[in-house]
Amino acid sequence: MEATNLNLKAKKQNHFDAIVIGAGMSGSWVAKEFCEKGLKTLVLERGRNIEHISGYETAMKEVWEFPYRNTLSPKIVKDNPVVSKCYAFREATQHHFVKDSEHPYVQTKPFDWIRGYQVGGKSLMWARHVQRWAKFDFEANSKDGHGVDWPIRYEDLAPWYSHVEKFAGISGNKDGLDAVPDGEFLPPMPFNDIEKHCISSIESSFPERNVIFARVANLSQPHNGRVCMYRSRCERGCPYGGYFSANSVTIPAAAATGNMTLRPFSVVQEIMYNNETRRASGVRVIDSNTKEVIEYTANVISINAGAINSLLLLMNSKSDRFPNGIGNDSGTLGHYLMFHNYRIRASGQIDDFKDSYFFGRKPTSLYIPRFRNVGDNTQKDFLRGYSFGMWSGRGLGSMDKNKSPIGADLKDQISELGGWSIGMTAMGEVLPRFENKISLSKTDTDEWGMPLVEIDIDYSENEESMCKDMMETGAEMLEAAGAKNVRVSDSKQAPGLDIHEMGGCRMGKDPSTSMLNKWNQMHAVSNVLVTDGACMSSTACQNPSITYMALSARAATHAVEELKKGNL
Ligand SMILES: Cc1cc2nc3c(=O)[nH]c(=O)nc-3n(C[C@H](O)[C@H](O)[C@H](O)COP(=O)(O)OP(=O)(O)OC[C@H]3O[C@@H](n4cnc5c(N)ncnc54)[C@H](O)[C@@H]3O)c2cc1C
Repeated sequence: MEATNLNLKAKKQNHFDAIVIGAGMSGSWVAKEFCEKGLKTLVLERGRNIEHISGYETAMKEVWEFPYRNTLSPKIVKDNPVVSKCYAFREATQHHFVKDSEHPYVQTKPFDWIRGYQVGGKSLMWARHVQRWAKFDFEANSKDGHGVDWPIRYEDLAPWYSHVEKFAGISGNKDGLDAVPDGEFLPPMPFNDIEKHCISSIESSFPERNVIFARVANLSQPHNGRVCMYRSRCERGCPYGGYFSANSVTIPAAAATGNMTLRPFSVVQEIMYNNETRRASGVRVIDSNTKEVIEYTANVISINAGAINSLLLLMNSKSDRFPNGIGNDSGTLGHYLMFHNYRIRASGQIDDFKDSYFFGRKPTSLYIPRFRNVGDNTQKDFLRGYSFGMWSGRGLGSMDKNKSPIGADLKDQISELGGWSIGMTAMGEVLPRFENKISLSKTDTDEWGMPLVEIDIDYSENEESMCKDMMETGAEMLEAAGAKNVRVSDSKQAPGLDIHEMGGCRMGKDPSTSMLNKWNQMHAVSNVLVTDGACMSSTACQNPSITYMALSARAATHAVEELKKGNL
């Protein structure tokens, strides 16, 4: 009798109103919305916890406190050929990134998979660029026939963009542009002289192109007890909460409700399906330290493990009803995987403005919204379009590294500033294609018994044609800004380094060609939500995370309404 009671208690303790898988960018928004609306929510995160402020172990360190002065040791580079390609992987930040050998995967074609396994996920290290999608981005699939039509339009998401922008704190100008609609912005940070010069010279040479302050999740003024100190050390975690991360914003908000149970070191292996209720009943988890297997049940489950890991989890959730992965009636699960085309870069030097500098370390830059294939300005040789991120900076002056100066010579040389450099990175839309996919290894598993992911994805002709145009327009805009020694390069980098993996569990109107409905619920299993990048039906060319956040808040709110009506 007693034993039965004990079991019942244990069962009860393992039941929640909701489960969220992954405590990163998107999962933390779902958790916040669920908790604030009263759901007892279990957040399962495979990595360790990183507490806001106390968890940022390198935040206050100076460059001389790192053995390699915040660069990478040759051994780290040798041992981590993939993640060391990422610009943000440095001595001060490397503990936020997954090391290559710790979590292997199969590159059927080259793919640089950059991951962060911890509470906060990649929201700790991101570059914080947050441009809204345009109306035409939601219409592109239906217009040119690549991919399925989105089941929502800009108007459906606009209030949710506003919702997350207001809470996260986004700095930006209201520029009135169709390509990147305005939002709920804090004032932009001031432009430096070179930025002002680039804006006027490029816009006057190319009237259909705009150069704007890139909308960023950095605070230009105090916001909800957080403030940016202009340290530009964001990727280390910010003790002042100067930028949006799950750790500093959404996880504390969820915790403050008293409704969240956060369980780190919890690798979710499988979503369990109940044939009778035709609902997901819960999840099977392995504790990453003890290897103990635990089952948790819930009324609604949101999958936010970061696109490829969410696909792995869904494909690994097999049952008699779903032998090819939960919810996969359409056969599209794992297919139509997408990324962004970040291959093209351009840079040059500006001779003027030698007497101009700026105060502090501004963590922001410029943005050139999409100007190709917008309205009547259509190009013939590729579909969709691209934008540019644009930076400027001054390095040291005439320091002659070969002469290794010391003493007064060294001081003289390093106190002299060099000229200005400006540069641009193109960010291009990638078309959804069935051939771009992941599958699960039939032979190899990881330390926790999960099959390894096989990633099979590549550029298509459309992206190659777009690259040629990016090179031409990048060079001509730098020249218009008066840059000397303009250099344009195609890195030919493999997909993945853009860190914008999307698709594989796409939204759509038709259950026979898509996985999710317009509320991010699985067509076939309505109490399962997928609101990270896996849900995307196309990529547009904007940095995607603000769209994941808006979709997450929208889907979570709708799921709570459905639960309250007894529909879930
Ligand atoms: C250097 C860098 C710069 C970037 N710059 C930008 C930018 O400027 N703008 C932009 O929009 N985006 C940017 N991104 C991308 C952005 O960080 C991601 O789009 C975003 O974090 C994705 O959110 P997510 O919730 O899908 O995944 P994540 O934030 O990665 O969170 C997923 C979480 O799930 C956990 N998890 C995985 N598998 C499991 C499992 N089986 N069980 C339990 N937990 C699991 C992971 O540990 C992780 O914590 C950048 C990323 C990096 C690294």
